[in-house]
Amino acid sequence: MIQIKNEVTLSDLDQCIGYWTDTEGYIREKWTLKSGKTFIIAQHRRVYWQHLGKRLPAKIEIHHIDGNPSNNRLSNLKPVIRDLHNTYHYG
Ligand SMILES: [Zn+2]
Repeated sequence: MIQIKNEVTLSDLDQCIGYWTDTEGYIREKWTLKSGKTFIIAQHRRVYWQHLGKRLPAKIEIHHIDGNPSNNRLSNLKPVIRDLHNTYHYG
């Protein structure tokens, strides 16, 4: 198995210590890691990460089905390859 150096895994997460909405309407979360470091992730990616138990590759984006980028219920999230995702929004 290939281990990417410094890659954060689910078991590294300690607790979410804050969140904010970015300029595009996506919720970003700040987490502490068990190592004591902090880690920032988009909430929709963290939700899907915990659902799958592993991180999605960067080329797989997450589409918000209802068009609301802050609705991060699992039922509103759909993983999609970047090129296809662009056609949903700009196609
Ligand atoms: Zn989308």
